[in-house]
Amino acid sequence: MINMALEKPPLTRKQKIAALADQCVQCGMCLPTCPTYGLDGSEAESPRGRIAIAAALARGDAEPTAALRTHLDHCLGCLNCQRVCPANVKYDELLVETRALVGPLPGRPRQLLALLRQPTLLRLAARVASATGLARWKVRLGARLPASSAWRAALDTLPDALPEPLPVAREEPAGAAPRVALFPGCVASVEDAEAEASAITLLHAAGYHVTRLPAFCCGAMDLHGGEMATADRLAERVRDTWQASGASELVSVTPGCLGTLRRTLPGVPVRDPVSLLAERSEHLRFRPLSRRVALHLPCTQVNVARSEAALQALLRKVPELDLQVAPRAPYCCGAAGSHMLEFPERAARLREATLGQIATLAPQQLLSSNIGCRLHLAAGMDEHGQHWPHMHPLTLLAQQLENSP
Ligand code: SF4
Ligand code: SF4
Repeated sequence: MINMALEKPPLTRKQKIAALADQCVQCGMCLPTCPTYGLDGSEAESPRGRIAIAAALARGDAEPTAALRTHLDHCLGCLNCQRVCPANVKYDELLVETRALVGPLPGRPRQLLALLRQPTLLRLAARVASATGLARWKVRLGARLPASSAWRAALDTLPDALPEPLPVAREEPAGAAPRVALFPGCVASVEDAEAEASAITLLHAAGYHVTRLPAFCCGAMDLHGGEMATADRLAERVRDTWQASGASELVSVTPGCLGTLRRTLPGVPVRDPVSLLAERSEHLRFRPLSRRVALHLPCTQVNVARSEAALQALLRKVPELDLQVAPRAPYCCGAAGSHMLEFPERAARLREATLGQIATLAPQQLLSSNIGCRLHLAAGMDEHGQHWPHMHPLTLLAQQLENSP
């Protein structure tokens, strides 16, 4: 009875946002790390400015006008700000709650996003595009659409053909090895199926049992778009399939999905396969590869998965590989989930800077763990006539594995 009397009622969403915003001491240390502040140089496009907007909306001091909502929606969710914040402001939580408070922007490309989140439909569309030679005329088709069109951005990032997945080494480790469940996601399960197959091959070689879960959206697009109820429903579906698998851990090859799953599935051990492989790297031996590669580190790999050091350590095990890590400034290539579709002109401006930095490394190949970043960067390469072949780092590692099939 006494405990019940002392229990505080849960905070409302507005109270929660206000409490999170109160943690900000307005020091401004996050501003130089923010890509959108770098683009516009305006306080409203900075983390500190967005926190002030969120607080004003939560306290009823401001109305959610289109202008204020746009500043919130321009945020890439890269979390560079959170990483450097001395006051430990939980910016990720604040952004998700504030977007849920104001709801999705009216102009969201809902039909396109619905297509992307359904792997079966997306695979069918990609096959039709490939069979009809859409890749040859997608640029001319896109040019008929406004530069701000999400469909034009989607056409720009459409790959010429779906990659053929590598054969998966089916040699499950003997004995009582740990079992992990691999969550394939939606876009990655279609456009980056070879990374998934590569992860399974490498995990087997490192001594893990792997169960592949069904492919569907983790809810990231809904979470970022302020559609919390849908995101929660999808998270429950992931939890159910993970529990049914009997695995001890849940993994995804896409760092962006890892971030969403960690947030929506508290209590579930969500891991980056890169970290798992690094922990048992003594089981992995690689053939030499004489190649200069540029490693692009997605924001989610650095700020959420925090597996960039483990990834570099694994790649450095490949003899003769000339590994060049792309500089992190200006901190985001602009892909940022659905941002590249919703704000393609801003995303293209951020991409220019990233491609310029990669070009200084003169790579023969580009590696990046995030399929969204790779497709977005590849579209920029097309525009500039640069054509670095690109792949997931795990794909390169699986290709060089000494005991690969
Ligand atoms: S670094 Fe943290 S405390 Fe300082 S302005 Fe940014 S969010 Fe606020
Ligand atoms: S998440 Fe990234 S884009 Fe958004 S405010 Fe923070 S640093 Fe800026």
